Amino acid sequence: MEFEISNSVVKEYRPPKEKMNPWEPDFFLHEKEIQADGRIKPVNTIFLTNRECPFKCVMCDLWRHTLDEPTPKGAIPHQIKYALDRLPKADVIKLYNSGNFFDGKAIPRQDYDRIAGLLSSFEHVIVENHPKLIGRFITDFKDRLPGSFEIAMGLESIHPNVLPKLNKQITKKDFIDAVSFLSQADISTRAFILLNPPFLTDENENIEWCLKSVEFAFDAGVSACSVIPTRDGNGIMDHLRKLGEYLPPKLTALETVFDEALKLQKGRVFCDVWDLEKFSSCNDCIGARKSRIEKMNYTQTVLPTVECKCY
Ligand code: SF4
Ligand SMILES: [Zn+2]
Repeated sequence: MEFEISNSVVKEYRPPKEKMNPWEPDFFLHEKEIQADGRIKPVNTIFLTNRECPFKCVMCDLWRHTLDEPTPKGAIPHQIKYALDRLPKADVIKLYNSGNFFDGKAIPRQDYDRIAGLLSSFEHVIVENHPKLIGRFITDFKDRLPGSFEIAMGLESIHPNVLPKLNKQITKKDFIDAVSFLSQADISTRAFILLNPPFLTDENENIEWCLKSVEFAFDAGVSACSVIPTRDGNGIMDHLRKLGEYLPPKLTALETVFDEALKLQKGRVFCDVWDLEKFSSCNDCIGARKSRIEKMNYTQTVLPTVECKCY
C-alpha cells in the first residue's frame, strides 16, 4: 500500500507534545569521544530547548522537546551557561538542538556573539544542521570561534525509494554540496545514517543500504558517521509498522553494520546505543552486546562478537 507522506500526515499521528521551558536546556551530559586524530577527549553535550524544526521527517521524534514559538532572544546563551555551570570541564562541546543550529527562529542570530563567547574555551564545537540550510551565516558564526568547528547532518539513507519518502526534502546531491561548501570553509562534517528507515523492510537490504549510505557519506567527505537504529514511538512510525512499511532493526543487524562500516576504514563510525534494549530479544546477552558496541565506539576497532545461545 502506498502511503502519502506530508507534513500534515506526519503531525496527525503525533502523541501530545511536552511543555518546555525556553530558559533551560532539555538535557545535558558529559561523555568521552574519540576525535579525528585518534585521541579520546571529554565532551560536553547540551540538548538545547528551541523552536521546533520546520522539517517534518517521518522517523523524527525530536519535536517532542521543542517550542512552538520562535526561541526568545537570549534564551540559548542562558541555557548554555546553565548547563556549563553544572558540567565538568571538557575539550569538545556538542550543541544539539533537535533541529538545525542555523535556523534563525531556533537559534536567534543576534545571539551568535554571546554563544561564541560561552564556547571560547572549547577546542572543538559540534552543532547539527540540515544540509539545505547552508549560507554565509555559517561562516559568520564559525569565524567567532577560536577552535575548530564541525556540523552533523542527517543523510539518513541513500536508497532511491526511501530518501524521497522521508520528507527530509534532500537529495544525495544536496548532501554532497553541503559537505563541499563546509569543507571549503574549513568546517568538518559528520553524517547521521539510519539502519532500517521506514519504507525498507527486507533485513538484508537494510544492512546493505545502511552500509552503502555510510560509504557514500565518507566519499562525500564526512569525517565520521553515526549509525542510528530507527525507532518507532513518534506516532507515524507506529502506524507505518502496522502497515508493514517499517521493520525495527535487530541488534545483530546493527552489530553487522557497525563491524562492516569500521572495516571500511574510511573514517570514524559511531553507533547510537540509546534504548538499545528495544532491539534485543534476549536478556542474557544485551548487557554484553551493548558494552561491546560502547567499547567499539571508543576504540574504533572490531571486537570479538558476543556468543550467546540466542543466535
Ligand atoms: S531535519 Fe532533523 S530535526 Fe528536523 S524533522 Fe528531520 S530529522 Fe527531525
Ligand atoms: Zn542472547
